[in-house]
Amino acid sequence: MEQVADLAIVGAGIMGLAHAYAAAQRGLRVVVFERGVQASGASIRNFGMIWPIGQPHGAMLQMALRSRAHWLEVLEHAQLPYAAEGSMHLVYRDDEAAVAKEFAEQSAALGYDCQWLNAAQALARSHAAKCQGLLGALWSSTELTVDPRVTIAALPAFLSEKFGVQFRFSCAIRSIDLPAIESAKERWSVDQALVCSGDDFETLYPSMYASSGLTRVKLQMLRTVPQPDGWRLGPALAAGLTLRFYPSFRVCGTLAALERRIAEETPEYDNWGIHGLVSQTAQGELTLGDSHESGLHVDIFNKSEIDDLMLGYISQFLNAPDLTIAQRWYGVYAKHPERPYLSLEPAPGVRIVTSPGGSGMTLSFGIAEKTMMEMRE
Ligand SMILES: Cc1cc2nc3c(=O)[nH]c(=O)nc-3n(C[C@H](O)[C@H](O)[C@H](O)COP(=O)(O)OP(=O)(O)OC[C@H]3O[C@@H](n4cnc5c(N)ncnc54)[C@H](O)[C@@H]3O)c2cc1C
Repeated sequence: MEQVADLAIVGAGIMGLAHAYAAAQRGLRVVVFERGVQASGASIRNFGMIWPIGQPHGAMLQMALRSRAHWLEVLEHAQLPYAAEGSMHLVYRDDEAAVAKEFAEQSAALGYDCQWLNAAQALARSHAAKCQGLLGALWSSTELTVDPRVTIAALPAFLSEKFGVQFRFSCAIRSIDLPAIESAKERWSVDQALVCSGDDFETLYPSMYASSGLTRVKLQMLRTVPQPDGWRLGPALAAGLTLRFYPSFRVCGTLAALERRIAEETPEYDNWGIHGLVSQTAQGELTLGDSHESGLHVDIFNKSEIDDLMLGYISQFLNAPDLTIAQRWYGVYAKHPERPYLSLEPAPGVRIVTSPGGSGMTLSFGIAEKTMMEMRE
């Protein structure tokens, strides 16, 4: 029997879930189709960092901050664990301190809530920072950490119970021909469809993906055992290498010298796109990463050299009781070389909303809000 909804969403990663939330809040009847028994793409493989500090000032920072506000609404409403403890970029070299200070000086005018902390102030805020050689830190109040595995697994039940969103797991969608959308098991009639299929470029609208300029990025990740005695990380941590990674810091004239020094001194970090980020799960494990290898073909084997480089770098700034590694994995996200994400219209009433790159957790609810506004126009 044919079933009816206003909006069908393909994919139950964070982009699909955020769009389901935004649409259901606006009173639409929503059905979400997910190929897996549960979503197991980029959205459960990440740090769970909602990271406005990484977004360039202006429209993207504002979108990240709105997204953060929606995250808080949802996390509170769904009673899911999160840490709203901000972030610190710890710096140990003069060129890193120059970038952090330059950014802190202009941050208020650009819309960030940041501050330069000297070494004593940084250590007072984070017992997880290594004190030897620490020059200071860029403190930012706006970063949140969620546990991605817990959150992505729990949100479908929340959206079903509170908003009546219907979920169909183990249901791959192979074609959309509005108003019909069909899986192997069911036929639905819907007014509109959103494709949030992550890095699957082959199943739906393959020719549009092929001409979109999208590529894939593979990231290697590590997770420690739970830290003993309820030890908590406090603010999520990053360090000097991260200052060359996020576009927010490109406003700093001092960045070029830092990039030059890293390229000359430790080219291996550039070769594998390595920087050091640390977040903590509700169970006390530390999530560590990451590296970046771009290209449509993803090497399914992890490189131990990359894991060793990441661990070596992180252990220079992280003072945690137990860095025993319990899990290693990789994740893949879709990325456009120039645009922060893509919203494409492959057919009337159908939108592909994809490729928020390394910022999908941060931007998802903000992108979803924008999609809803555009769909109304
Ligand atoms: C290791 C790693 C760390 C990261 N860390 C962060 C971070 O800390 N903060 C941050 O902001 N961002 C981070 N990111 C980026 C973020 O995770 C991604 O941008 C985001 O998860 C993308 O979400 P998505 O819903 O588009 O894709 P996905 O999570 O991959 O979901 C797509 C879903 O669509 C389903 N699907 C595809 N095709 C079909 C079909 N035809 N029918 C049915 N279902 C289909 C798939 O099974 C999948 O579940 C990280 C990414 C990685 C890989």
